[in-house]
Amino acid sequence: MTTRRLQVQPKTEGWTQKTDAEGRPLLQFASPKRGKPPTHLADLTPEDRLNAMKELGLPAFRAKQLETHYFQHFTRDPASMTDLPSEGREELVHKLLPPLLTEVKRIQTDRGDTIKVLWKLHDGALVESVLMRYPGRITLCVSSQAGCGMNCPFCATGQAGLTRNMSAAEIVAQVVRANRMIMDGELGDPKHLGHEAERVSNIVFMGMGEPLANYNRVIQAIRVLTDKKHGIGMSARGITVSTVGLVPAIKKLSEESIPVTFALSLHAPDDELRDRLIPVNSRWKVDEALDAAKEYFDKTGRRVSIEYALIKDMNDHAWRAELLAEKLNSRGHGWVHVNPIPLNPTPGSVWTASEPGVQAEFVNRLVSAGIPTTIRDTRGKDIDGACGQLVATEADQAQAAKIPIDF
Ligand code: SF4
Repeated sequence: MTTRRLQVQPKTEGWTQKTDAEGRPLLQFASPKRGKPPTHLADLTPEDRLNAMKELGLPAFRAKQLETHYFQHFTRDPASMTDLPSEGREELVHKLLPPLLTEVKRIQTDRGDTIKVLWKLHDGALVESVLMRYPGRITLCVSSQAGCGMNCPFCATGQAGLTRNMSAAEIVAQVVRANRMIMDGELGDPKHLGHEAERVSNIVFMGMGEPLANYNRVIQAIRVLTDKKHGIGMSARGITVSTVGLVPAIKKLSEESIPVTFALSLHAPDDELRDRLIPVNSRWKVDEALDAAKEYFDKTGRRVSIEYALIKDMNDHAWRAELLAEKLNSRGHGWVHVNPIPLNPTPGSVWTASEPGVQAEFVNRLVSAGIPTTIRDTRGKDIDGACGQLVATEADQAQAAKIPIDF
């Protein structure tokens, strides 16, 4: 018989969760009304781009020229666009490729293979992205919202609530800027410096925000990222959309015919704990989220990832590994794999790393039950490491920063 260990409960540290009238953690789905970011080429469908040219009295092929400069050469510098007539060039670029992201702060690891950038949007909202070089691939973690309305008790991003949805072009701009950094030789490993053929190969929607709460813009961004003729032309398989479990949106995503990789941030297999850990679980329960994830596999044939941050004495019990395996196996085999995510040790916090033996036992139970399981390489992740830490600590400085828009 499995003996039950200590059960640590989720709790916020140093801040208080906003609650609704019934005292439950507040969930914010609608984006507050704020000034919209300027419309950009990446917000438009290829057809709308042609219409935009027509309205400006320009030949249709100018749209293609702008697409090539921005999505292939990663530039919005009019001086480099010598195939456009010099007269009216600046105005055209300003109209269709307006500046969207201002770099406020950059943190780079010693080896230079990880770059975290804090960006300011046109209205002062702050978001971040993280660029990481791994052997054989370059991954960018992007934000999809400024702030987040999902109110997870461990997450710095959730504290301030949702500032606003990002536009499709603001999401795409993070990728364009990352590709530019790589082209300019800014991402570590000297033997690759200035290697023009290198690009971001993988994108994970695991930065600020819940991507499925900003559904239409995220889908438009993915269309641009994967469009080989009119966009960046990445493989959809290299793009991971991660959600805390917005069930209707997962179902919608499975109908889109874009074979992105789908990841469910589960973190607990039982509603009792998950209700506290992931407040949106009060809306859609573990079984509903898993059913939707299985449906995603059935419709797309793409194997689903279950993300599971291992938190000491909170969710790392062997019985939870068994319960998770049981729930996954009851829905079929070969449709899912689990990524346990080790955390950094944070002494004194309830959000701290599992003991190595406990982690190993958790993984063993999953593997013995036939569940493919891979510990994720996280480069020493705090639980909210990819979720707004920079913003929380740098917001004041950033507000004071007077950095000109440079892109
Ligand atoms: S963990 Fe993700 S979904 Fe939860 S509040 Fe943070 S950004 Fe939002």
